Amino acid sequence: MAHTPNPSRRSWVGPPTPFLTPRPERRELRWAEAGSHSSVRRSGVGACSINGSNDRDREANVQVVLRCRPLSVEEQKANVQSAVSCNDTKREVTVLNSLFKQADKTFTFDTVFGPKSQQRAIYDHAVAPIVDDVLEGYNCTVFAFGQTGTGKTYTMEGEMMQQVGELPTSAGVMPRAVRHIFDILEAQKADYSMKVTFLELYNEEITDLLASEDQSRFLEDRHKRPTLSLMEDGKGGSVIRGLEEIVVYSPGEIYSLLQHGSTRRRTADTALNMQSSRSHSVFSIYIHVKVTTTGNRELIKCGRLNLVDLAGSESIARSGAKEVRAREAGELNKSLLTLGRVITALVEDSVHVPYRDSKLTRLLRESLGGKAKTCIIATVTPSVHCLEETLVTLDYAYRAKSIRNKPEVNQ
Ligand code: ADP
Ligand code: MG
Repeated sequence: MAHTPNPSRRSWVGPPTPFLTPRPERRELRWAEAGSHSSVRRSGVGACSINGSNDRDREANVQVVLRCRPLSVEEQKANVQSAVSCNDTKREVTVLNSLFKQADKTFTFDTVFGPKSQQRAIYDHAVAPIVDDVLEGYNCTVFAFGQTGTGKTYTMEGEMMQQVGELPTSAGVMPRAVRHIFDILEAQKADYSMKVTFLELYNEEITDLLASEDQSRFLEDRHKRPTLSLMEDGKGGSVIRGLEEIVVYSPGEIYSLLQHGSTRRRTADTALNMQSSRSHSVFSIYIHVKVTTTGNRELIKCGRLNLVDLAGSESIARSGAKEVRAREAGELNKSLLTLGRVITALVEDSVHVPYRDSKLTRLLRESLGGKAKTCIIATVTPSVHCLEETLVTLDYAYRAKSIRNKPEVNQ
């Protein structure tokens, strides 16, 4: 897909100073879509009442939710047995090892979304509270984590929006978050600035999914895309040199950038054998909102939302003796493996947490044990053929529940 140059495409005015751009004739925009979000309405109806668990859960700053996809039509036709049973009300998921004459294994999560769960339910109950926090000035991250084919991209992207209009029922977290953010800002008539970035991390190399040059050849081969370097920012965080930060004024602009980036990621796949199962993508929205306090003092709240579609977790199942062979075969995903080790170190309260060992963990350091708020959406398939991988995903996700972040507002 050729990328159409966008008239509002220009650089973010120099970090670290927060800025506010006068908005173009956008003030008239209103989102009258059925089912759209507004913080005002949501707070009134207790939108987070699923399983009656949210007040408590929101205090834990790392939420871990589980989504089990339905068996596909092909799997049903082939009579594939379902080996995962979800109890959304009890927030439990059980792996039916009894099919193999072993004891069943049950895990509890902050929320469990069974095979019948709709995209909207995932967004409303697991992600919307986090987006509210972004607008309050927090840095927040939503990760999709699970084996290839379990619905990470479906959950994060789903059906992408082609244009501004009603959200399709299968729209995922990304387009829904964009709509939600604009709904709130419009409802508050807030003065704000926004910019987005979209990167892919493959084989420890970062490439820009929104790079503006007409680089059609890069669509065919991700190895030919220019790679970007990750630098320390001197404050414990990191910056990516050369990553395009695109200032945006409307949901429509973000939808087309999302569409563009995600197509670029997928097009590279068809050419090179589904490598996106081994790539991570990070879409980030930076928002500065001007607020006036009761003492008439002006504050700027700076929030950031990272939406992360991780590589297939089967990479981290390879460990120990198999690790060497996997590395030789180029199959080992260093970032994902390090993510697993970081989770382990945090859960075990280790003195050393190996953030620096991979680009992904350097990039998302503050989301794991740092000052951000985080939601991990672990995805599994009910298929009996994937039981082993499903157990690995559930085990990692379950352990990640004990990670504690210490969120701080950026002002
Ligand atoms: P992953 O990104 O984890 O590799 P995908 O998101 O590509 O997996 O999903 C694999 C397939 O399963 C896709 O065809 C997708 O549309 C379908 N799928 C995944 N989750 C669901 C779901 N909850 N409901 C219906 N179809 C789903
Ligand atoms: Mg995917």
